Amino acid sequence: MYHRIIANMISHVQCRSILNRISQPDNWFGLWYNVNLYRGCSHRCVYCDSRSECYSIENFDGEILVKANAIELLSDRLPRLRVKGTIGTGSMNDPYQPLERKIGLTRRALEVIAFNHFPVHVITKSDLVLRDIDILKEISKVYSAVTFTITTVDNSIASRIEPGAPSVEARFEAIRELSMNGIHVGITLMPILPFITDSIDNLNALIEQASRCGVEYIIASFGVTLRDRQRDYFLRKVEKLFPGMGSKYSRQFGSSYLCRSSNAEQLEVVFTEKCHVQGISTSMPVHDPLDTGQLSLF
Ligand code: SF4
Repeated sequence: MYHRIIANMISHVQCRSILNRISQPDNWFGLWYNVNLYRGCSHRCVYCDSRSECYSIENFDGEILVKANAIELLSDRLPRLRVKGTIGTGSMNDPYQPLERKIGLTRRALEVIAFNHFPVHVITKSDLVLRDIDILKEISKVYSAVTFTITTVDNSIASRIEPGAPSVEARFEAIRELSMNGIHVGITLMPILPFITDSIDNLNALIEQASRCGVEYIIASFGVTLRDRQRDYFLRKVEKLFPGMGSKYSRQFGSSYLCRSSNAEQLEVVFTEKCHVQGISTSMPVHDPLDTGQLSLF
């Protein structure tokens, strides 16, 4: 499928298609389509699910594929789509990982999306998204939303579990900026890592800071999923970063896919109450292309 030109572990590839139709319903973000402009991600989060074998990304941490013909493919495909449903990006890699600063592929994709009047939803951990605030504002005439993944307010933990991503403060500041510019902005609080980020204090502090920055919604999941080589990578890393933690996970969860925090029930109650008090939604306002102009809550 790919033609590779290897250069300094960045490969420019030609792909056959760029837009995937998502089977409905997408219960979190209301997406109809998904776009991945890169393959691989230099944010290197220890829990990243994209390392799972089912995605067949053999060298996720070592090589980034840049889909060099993505813009041509997108420009060709969008005018031919019957339903102007929300296009999501950021599920398999971060569209604003450091390479994007130089390459600008995400920016050019947003320009195509704006030109064709499609709604968009971006998931990222990077304040680089602020570079494209002009296009996001243009797209917001239809609908644009940016969701930041923030799993902890503790930078010393974040810098270990998300070593290539911008600081937590930078993410909160970006939220503030987007919110002030009228763009839907929220947080995915996931994963919550058992024994590492699953304290009530972390949850409270995160919601309070989110509220101060004008966040509109927070979507949470009270555990982490682990499978095959993603699990192997995760256990190896956390054992190194938090000595004894890898074996603790092995004892507690064995080979379970769903590794739920033992605090999950309490966390969920606190989360729901605290968000309610702060006026933060626990679901996202999504665009319904079949009911033009209307937003609904998932
Ligand atoms: S930013 Fe997202 S895609 Fe990139 S490594 Fe982290 S979890 Fe994976």
